[in-house]
Amino acid sequence: RTILRELTEIQIKNISSDCEALPDRDPSIFLKRHLKKIRDLGEGHFGKVMLYVYDPANDGTGEYVALKTLKQEGGNHLHDSWMKEIEILKSLYHNNIVKYKGCCSELGESWVVQLIMEYLPLGSLREYLPKHRLGVAQSLLFAQQICQGMDYLHSKRYIHRDLAARNVLVENEGVVKIGDFGLTKYIPEGEIYYRVREDGDSPVFWYAIECLKESKFSFSSDVWSFGVTLYEILTLCDHRQSPPMKYVEMMGMVQGQMTVMKLINLLEKHRRLPCPRDCPHEVYMLMEQCWDFTPVHRPTFRSLAECLEDVRR
Ligand code: ADP
Ligand code: MG
Repeated sequence: RTILRELTEIQIKNISSDCEALPDRDPSIFLKRHLKKIRDLGEGHFGKVMLYVYDPANDGTGEYVALKTLKQEGGNHLHDSWMKEIEILKSLYHNNIVKYKGCCSELGESWVVQLIMEYLPLGSLREYLPKHRLGVAQSLLFAQQICQGMDYLHSKRYIHRDLAARNVLVENEGVVKIGDFGLTKYIPEGEIYYRVREDGDSPVFWYAIECLKESKFSFSSDVWSFGVTLYEILTLCDHRQSPPMKYVEMMGMVQGQMTVMKLINLLEKHRRLPCPRDCPHEVYMLMEQCWDFTPVHRPTFRSLAECLEDVRR
């Protein structure tokens, strides 16, 4: 309902043509007509992210922003999770979480709301790492920052559910930020996990064993995914060593639902991703702790951040 009210307000603001002249105009409302598309930045399962310039003065002084839209005109369910993603990002303030800037809405066949966030020119770790030969110290700094962002997210009682190198953005050679909150869920105080109901394909190779077996997502399952992300960072996102490639190597080619079953078998036999080349032993031990079969035995993001800090020194 608040969303509807906001939309109505946006609509009213759009109709009154001189609203832009008002000094107290809401800076989080971006007007479509001042947005100029530059290029596509990337897309995942549900969203598509594009680079735009927002230039209300129309004199070339505009700023770059990343605009995210829902890929297909999904059903109500998708629309609701989309509005949820926007609300969640709006409520998060942390150095290692991508900054929300605002919304832009358009009246097409129905209302389309787009998310506007800061633009990170270096893209995700998946684009950045293969091109930059970063050393172990810098890799561990990135890893530590992901833990700090995740510790904050968990302190707000959100679980991410889709932590992976493709969803971590690079600000500069010394700062990374977690992006893509599409699968984030809020866990009420006292409840430790959330069962997913929606199906559709998911990033299974980043999922903890209990997510694969029972769709039990929890703070600890984010820690498992972090272990896989840490593995990706230490392999510099080399696609020949990617988690899907390595797991398929271990279990042989399989298709469809069989993939999940084979993966579960493998993990139950305590087989895990291998130690990346040049990865310090202590760091591989952290990965193994993240991949502990028993969720409560896995470390928290706070302790992981501290361990990584120690290894870096
Ligand atoms: P999806 O929910 O569809 O997975 P993401 O939010 O993960 O969408 O974005 C898809 C890709 O777009 C990312 O992997 C990254 O390459 C690029 N991208 C996303 N947000 C930004 C941003 N703020 N700045 C630069 N590139 C971005
Ligand atoms: Mg993504």
